[in-house]
Amino acid sequence: MFDAAAVKRDFPILNQPGEPSLVFLDSGASSQKPQVVIDALVNYYSTANSNVHRGVYKLAVAADAAFDGTREQVAMWLNAPSSDEVIFTRGTTEAINLVASSWGRANLQPGDLVVSTLMEHHSSFVPWQMVAEEKGARFEAVRLTASGELDQDHYQELLAQHPKVVAFTHVSNVLGTINPVKEMTAQAHAVGAIVCLDAAQSAPHMAIDVQDLDVDFLALSGHKMLAPMGVGVLYGKRALLEAMPPYQSGGSMIRKVTLEKTTFANLPHKFEAGTPSVGDVVGLGAAISYLQGLGFADIARHEHDLAAAAIGQLNALPGVTVYGPGADVPRAGVVSFAVDGVHPHDVAALLDEKGVAVRAGHHCAQPLMRELGVTATTRASFYVYNTIDDVDRLVEGVRHAQRVFA
Ligand code: PLP
Repeated sequence: MFDAAAVKRDFPILNQPGEPSLVFLDSGASSQKPQVVIDALVNYYSTANSNVHRGVYKLAVAADAAFDGTREQVAMWLNAPSSDEVIFTRGTTEAINLVASSWGRANLQPGDLVVSTLMEHHSSFVPWQMVAEEKGARFEAVRLTASGELDQDHYQELLAQHPKVVAFTHVSNVLGTINPVKEMTAQAHAVGAIVCLDAAQSAPHMAIDVQDLDVDFLALSGHKMLAPMGVGVLYGKRALLEAMPPYQSGGSMIRKVTLEKTTFANLPHKFEAGTPSVGDVVGLGAAISYLQGLGFADIARHEHDLAAAAIGQLNALPGVTVYGPGADVPRAGVVSFAVDGVHPHDVAALLDEKGVAVRAGHHCAQPLMRELGVTATTRASFYVYNTIDDVDRLVEGVRHAQRVFA
């Protein structure tokens, strides 16, 4: 049994006094932080703070060890062949921009095809759309089925046109759909395309093995997985990263600079120009350890159970429409819904009156909203600290909104 009530006690922000108590259902946007992560930050800044990769004094050595040690930890967590293939970024957005700009500019030619999907967050859509436009490449998006899954027939049609790159999300931040990454990646490789995976909504919630998935690039954000804001990861296959030009230039990413020419550092430093967010990286390490302690398989099961309960109870309310796959298939703990006659922002505001924090809006997924035929949805997203009582509070809050607007 996953003891979410015990987990919740580890998160100071969820245990503040006052009524109604806080039910936080917006972890898809950004998660809360457990005491161990807060402590890791305090400890780092109290005992080891220094810039990295440039000092010889004790603090600098301690900061280097903490920073590079976390890179090793991330590599082991993702099962990356080498920590050289782990690049710290500010988050998923920066990681995908790095790939689209660097790999895209170096490899796309006029007439090439870039394949995305209609369920992408803008961060996995717009950077590819922009570089395609810049390079005169075509940009196409896989359509969705009625149940909110990728239309695999359409994907096959696009693959038959031999795209250079397929960029898509592991888990939809609106629908909770889990895409068949391993199969889609093998099919993309079979036609010579590389795959750039957006793992912002998967890495926090399920075990990830980059060698098993065989994706070429994978992007994730620390702040969605209990770590501080300001740190994310790009994993990339060594051969691709080595062949790519730097994304940003400046300090720390060079081998030699002369008036005539600059040469670049080896991986991963070539892609880490400037001072990184060292404390946040240390916090990411603490978050990964905490999540591994809970167990990713148990986390995924717990969130599926919460989503199943929420979908069941919301569907039972007249006038409520739940989007995305049902709970009879593997799906993530993201539940988007509409309440007849109540704008999603009003649903969210009325839930907030009851202490329930949810998100309302287009969720940075306007192409998907257009597919759904709406401008916005209300979204509840679950994480390790949510309990079945939180689902009940959500459903009570939705009924309250219905009563207010009756
Ligand atoms: N991709 C997905 C699927 C997301 O849900 C998000 C954030 O909500 C992002 C990318 C962007 O993440 P960040 O803002 O941390 O870069």
